[in-house]
Amino acid sequence: MTSLPLVFDAPKRALPPRHLADLSAAQRKEAVVSLGEKPFRARQLSHHYFARLTADPQAMTDIPAQTRDRLAGELLPDLLTPVRQITCDDGTTRKTLWRAHDGTLVESVLMRYPDRTTLCVSSQAGCGMACPFCATGQGGLQRNLSTAEIVEQVRSAAAAMRDGELPGPDGRPAPGRLSNIVFMGMGEPLANYRRVVDAVRRICDPAPDGLGISQRSVTVSTVGLVPAIRKLTEEGLQVRLAVSLHTPDDELRDTLVPVNTRWKVAEVLQAARGYADRTGRRVSIEYALIRDVNDQPWRADLLGKLLHRHLGQFAHVNVIPLNPTPGSKWDASPKPVEREFVRRVNEQGVACTVRDTRGQEIAAACGQLAAEG
Ligand code: SF4
Repeated sequence: MTSLPLVFDAPKRALPPRHLADLSAAQRKEAVVSLGEKPFRARQLSHHYFARLTADPQAMTDIPAQTRDRLAGELLPDLLTPVRQITCDDGTTRKTLWRAHDGTLVESVLMRYPDRTTLCVSSQAGCGMACPFCATGQGGLQRNLSTAEIVEQVRSAAAAMRDGELPGPDGRPAPGRLSNIVFMGMGEPLANYRRVVDAVRRICDPAPDGLGISQRSVTVSTVGLVPAIRKLTEEGLQVRLAVSLHTPDDELRDTLVPVNTRWKVAEVLQAARGYADRTGRRVSIEYALIRDVNDQPWRADLLGKLLHRHLGQFAHVNVIPLNPTPGSKWDASPKPVEREFVRRVNEQGVACTVRDTRGQEIAAACGQLAAEG
């Protein structure tokens, strides 16, 4: 099915210049002092960036102009420039294609629902996991994103929500609040482990040290990098873990999710159980349902049995109707097949629902916009 190699270590491409959001509160203070400024300036800058959601030095009028220009020059470099925005679902879904300092393209998708607003962020430019049904996977891994490049996607979405750029429930533009973050854009988050965990802390630390989004509203997904799941278990975080399983049997998973050749289904589920036991949180099992590939009734039965055994009440299966990429041989399963699949998983006592597929019209399968860009 695929001949692409798995890539765990990102190519040595230059990360962007240092940014305020790369640094912890203590490091920000040190950075400001090393630039010859008073330590309290770090808190002022953080307040503007994380609480007022602005990266524009001209808006930071409580800092003297000269100081502000110097601090902004050193600690607030422009990291991401929007290249293109596409909306669908009556404007409630907006996908942004960003260009980084080195021309790298990444994307994020903002989805406003009546009761919440979710941002899907990218953690790497491209992806080295080589899943054959995924557009991003076909392009390979270009580089890791820095912590600040991840946080910038979130800050900018939080500002867009505050400024009412997306319509509310009555269809009219209205201010709202960014409430949920899912690391399900381009990349394998746990292959960029340190920067992703630091980004989670920046996103969740209370303002002005961070953006103040609840850890419980953040989901970190993985294809199943077992050592990294174990490490995450020790971080003391309360984020939700999502495992992209896509099939319960090793034989098919070896080709569908090639990292399975390294860590088998049972190992991945054991690691996920360890995470659930430690955090008390349910694990999302992501399952892209692909016509005639992984949608057979026997696979639904096997999935249900396996999850019941390994995760019990801690499992929640999200069935995702595949969003086919242009020219791809992969297609979504017919609705009756999808319904039967869900029914059979439920029958094993495992929670299973079909995920709302926002963004179908704007090709929101991961990586597609960047591939076209
Ligand atoms: S499906 Fe996810 S992990 Fe697999 S290649 Fe695509 S972005 Fe990477």
